[in-house]
Amino acid sequence: MTNLNVFNGPEDTLPLAEVFSTIQGEGRLTGRPSTFVRLSGCNLQCSWCDTPYTWRDDELAKSPPQHVTKERLTSLVARNVPASGHRTQNLVLTGGEPLLHRKKLETWLPYLLEAIPDIGSVEFETNGTAGGPLTFDLSVEQLFNLPPFFYNVSLKLPSSGNDKLVSKSALLKHIDTSWRSGDKFSENVLFKFVVTNAAEDIELIDGLVDACKIPPSAIALMPQGKTREDQLAALEHVASLAIPRGYLVSARVHTLIWGDKRGV
Ligand code: SF4
Repeated sequence: MTNLNVFNGPEDTLPLAEVFSTIQGEGRLTGRPSTFVRLSGCNLQCSWCDTPYTWRDDELAKSPPQHVTKERLTSLVARNVPASGHRTQNLVLTGGEPLLHRKKLETWLPYLLEAIPDIGSVEFETNGTAGGPLTFDLSVEQLFNLPPFFYNVSLKLPSSGNDKLVSKSALLKHIDTSWRSGDKFSENVLFKFVVTNAAEDIELIDGLVDACKIPPSAIALMPQGKTREDQLAALEHVASLAIPRGYLVSARVHTLIWGDKRGV
């Protein structure tokens, strides 16, 4: 866990690493025009993390987050969302681990979404270990007016370098307590696994799918790799693992287009 002042900003603020508009490059909403809100702070420490500036002390010291109020965040997002007059824009809450800020997001997001009607969907990119979907204390009519929420749950495997935090038993517990609704999984939840070359990665994923009875269509495999070259080199292998199992293949399309850059 990071120990700089990410979680100790002024009251009623969130630590914001960046806001930018691009396309969603991963998961079910790949290709959708999206505005990303990247919050700082993470409870994991993946060895191959591509956003260490959200949590690692040396990177935070070079590039500290802005501590923004609800009004400031709404104004920054509004400036980035192209005004199409249609609800075409996807708002992506990412990090770091955005669900570490769930209490504030549960009160801030209805305000932001009412202020920016062009947002037609909201997507969380989470590591899955900080609780399940947000809940809102709103009237039925207000809930009805919210756009759909999607969750890209990128559970980390032991090959991520997090050791006991992501053991099989810990992952099973997170899936069962946070992401299962009754005996089913919401269609708005996609479990996305970053696969390295380690043979135990796919064995563990298959074990989780079997133990938790997750539908294969709710599983996506994505190659580990920060650069375009890394992604292209690994995609065929990942596809060969996914296809016979009925899992989805997800690449980092933004990386294939723009390479390993921040803010795309
Ligand atoms: S969970 Fe995500 S943000 Fe956190 S260290 Fe791992 S890859 Fe980075």
